[in-house]
Amino acid sequence: MRNVVLLGSTGSIGTSTIKVAEDLPDRIRLLGLAAGNNVELLLDQTRKHRPEAISITDPAKARDLRDMLGASTEVFSGSEGLLKLATLPAADIVLIAIVGTAGLAPALAAIRAGKDIAVASKEILVMAGEIVMREAREHGVKVLAVDSEHSAIFQCLDGKPSNSVRRLWLTASGGPFRTTPKEEFPGITVERALKHPSWVMGRKITIDSATLFNKGLEMIEARWLFDIEMGRVSVVVHPQSVVHSMVEFVDGSMLAQLSTPDMCLPIQYALTYPERAASDRVQTNLAKLGSLTFEEPDPERFPALELARTAGEVGGTLPAVLNAANEIAVDAFVNRRISFPEVSATVRRTMDRHHLVPHASLQQILEADAWARTEAARG
Ligand code: NDP
Repeated sequence: MRNVVLLGSTGSIGTSTIKVAEDLPDRIRLLGLAAGNNVELLLDQTRKHRPEAISITDPAKARDLRDMLGASTEVFSGSEGLLKLATLPAADIVLIAIVGTAGLAPALAAIRAGKDIAVASKEILVMAGEIVMREAREHGVKVLAVDSEHSAIFQCLDGKPSNSVRRLWLTASGGPFRTTPKEEFPGITVERALKHPSWVMGRKITIDSATLFNKGLEMIEARWLFDIEMGRVSVVVHPQSVVHSMVEFVDGSMLAQLSTPDMCLPIQYALTYPERAASDRVQTNLAKLGSLTFEEPDPERFPALELARTAGEVGGTLPAVLNAANEIAVDAFVNRRISFPEVSATVRRTMDRHHLVPHASLQQILEADAWARTEAARG
């Protein structure tokens, strides 16, 4: 039985994690649940799964929850609540699925308290991959990938060191504009960008999948998770999203991990690792799928990949700047203040104006994040 703390229980990854816990009641116990604003769903989840403690952002909502739940569950609030949950003495693993940067402090707190972490929130490794992985090594805890691509690479690597690897291949669906001509990009609407061809996900990551910033963030995430330089992390477009990613070894052999797209699979693997638990949820019929295709990404229509490669190669505070500027630009696009191509233009401009701090401390990273948000919002 593994005691799991789930931060972001009301989101897309969070609700899939709850399904996995319901599939495997003998293996997974939901010890703690944290949400942002969705008090109704958090209340339902709490009544059903009886966690030891929960947390919600707003202290007033926490008070309401305390009144409704009585003494059976401890209720915390705010960023302090996330830290409390991440360090619950009985927790074995903390799964972080909060959108944005709010997951970074609880991730570090969990590591320092000796907990394994399962990372869905890519911002954590993009912003502070060097620090997070160093702290995890020092505290002897595992950092497990929840992103389907990184889970695939982790499964293919199977403990092999980075010197046995020629290249990591992240697959990208290509998003809804894979075949859209460049001339049409300025007219792309929010509604069209929110229609992902193969995955149902939260709003921010769906827009990131349309710009390919999602893949760019994943390149940086892979660089830290697998201790490999950016030059050996590549992207190939694979519209069917069945091959979740691949490892090309030094002898030329390539291993891939395949399944129909369902986030429950990588979530389950992270929570049961190193074991594989039997589950009928995911079924893959290759004959029915017919063909799997691959193509080069187009750097002209999707500049996000090169921007992310630069940020990952330069390192220091630059990945945090890319991430923060992108968050602001996505928000501006969703609120119809800028056009679709202006998302990557905003990120490029903010990166160009940044004064880099190499091998930055956490404080310097957070300062760069705050600076980039203000700078990107200035337009
Ligand atoms: P959603 O927007 O669906 O969910 C976000 C979750 O975070 C919600 O539970 C939300 O609560 C909660 N939340 C937001 N801010 C806070 C906060 N300050 N404190 C506590 N909880 C908070 O996002 P996704 O599930 O899609 O994505 C989560 C992370 O996982 C992202 O970093 C994304 O990049 C990554 N990811 C997602 C994948 C997917 O398939 N969806 C795949 C791989 C990675 P509430 O709703 O109650 O406000």
